[in-house]
This record gives sequence, structure tokens and C-alpha cells, in this order.
Amino acid sequence: MCGIVGAVSERQITGILVEGLSRLEYRGYVSAGMAVHDGQHIHRLRRIGKVKALSDAQSETPLNGTLGIAHTRWATHGVPAENNAHPHMSGDRVAVVHNGIIENYERLKDELIHAGYLFTSETDTEVVAHLLAQQLQLGKSVRDALGDIIKRLEGAFALGVIDKHNPTQLYTARKGSPLVIGVGIGENFIASDQLALLPVTDRFMFLEDGDIA
Ligand code: GLU
Repeated sequence: MCGIVGAVSERQITGILVEGLSRLEYRGYVSAGMAVHDGQHIHRLRRIGKVKALSDAQSETPLNGTLGIAHTRWATHGVPAENNAHPHMSGDRVAVVHNGIIENYERLKDELIHAGYLFTSETDTEVVAHLLAQQLQLGKSVRDALGDIIKRLEGAFALGVIDKHNPTQLYTARKGSPLVIGVGIGENFIASDQLALLPVTDRFMFLEDGDIA
């Protein structure tokens, strides 16, 4: 079981992401990573091994921003390696964290490779980033793109998504994998388990299967 944490706020959120991931360490994982929007671009940091390695890397090369997603990976497709660590990105446009398994990823991957998308990991998850980018390229909103692509995903997923062109929006969708929304004042969060968000809120909303937020 992996761990997802995401935050959109008026304050810097990197510390909240790292603290959230450490609170999900009990779930087991092989790598940790995060993507943070600095208002203009999405910056990503990923490390094999413990959340501490990610936190040390973050101290050396700080990511700053008020929107971000983070992940501890339980590897199902692809070896424990930095290129397989989440978040996965399509170019510099969208970043995605995923818990679960996309069962029909091979067919989707073939289709995306034919359409010219370049894959940099062995994961099932990376198809989600490219499918979203493909829809955004057509001019769709992230909300509509997410709604369209989850209809094509077979298997189980909880997703956290950020988009370069939407620096104040955190998106999520789930089917068959746990995900909770934490409601704050002037800020909102997502996580695999509310335990991750207890330092920042005690108000939670639970998504039903197929929900997008
Ligand atoms: N199936 C994805 C992977 O292997 C996500 C696994 C997870 O839930 O962490 O990267």
C-alpha cells in the first residue's frame, strides 16, 4: 500500500507533504517523491528508500510552493528505482501520484507510444500522466480531462494531480483505493489515510468510488 499526500494552500506546503509522508511510512514503500508548483513551473524530487532521503534532498535543493503532491511507492509494476518513483509527469505539464494498479496499462501505453508520448518509467501509472496531457492538449479543463480518462482506466486507483497551467488547483479521483480530503481554512489536502493530515486539520470528507474533486 502506498501513501499519497497533497496540499493546496496560501502557505508553503513542502513541510506538510514530508510530514504527511512520514506519517504514512507504516504502510511500507520503496521510494518517496514529490512535485511542487512554484507558481510558474512544476518541480519534482524523487529518492529511492526512506522519506528521510527525500527530506534530506529537499533540505539541499528546496522546493517551494503552495501546491503539491507527494507519494511513497509500493512497487507493483517496475523495480524500485528513481525513474519508477512517483510523481510521474508528462513533459513539464502534469504531475500524477497513484495508488493502485491500472490493469489495462499495456494497451494504453502502446496507444500513447504510437501517438508520440515518451515513457521514462516501467510503471502502469505513467499512462495516467500522458492520457491527461493528451486531453489537456485538446483544450479540455483538467476536471473534464480527468473525468474522461478515468472512464478508460481498468483496475484500482487513487490519484493526485497537479497541472502547470492551474497553479492553485489540486485534483483527485478515486476508484477502489482509499483517499480522503482534509478540509482546512484557506487550504485543502488529500491523503491515503487521515492520519497523514492530523497536524493540519481534523475535518475530513470521504470520496465514493468514481468521485472526482
Ligand atoms: N502501480 C503503481 C506503481 O507500481 C503504484 C503502486 C502504489 O500503489 O504505490 O508504481
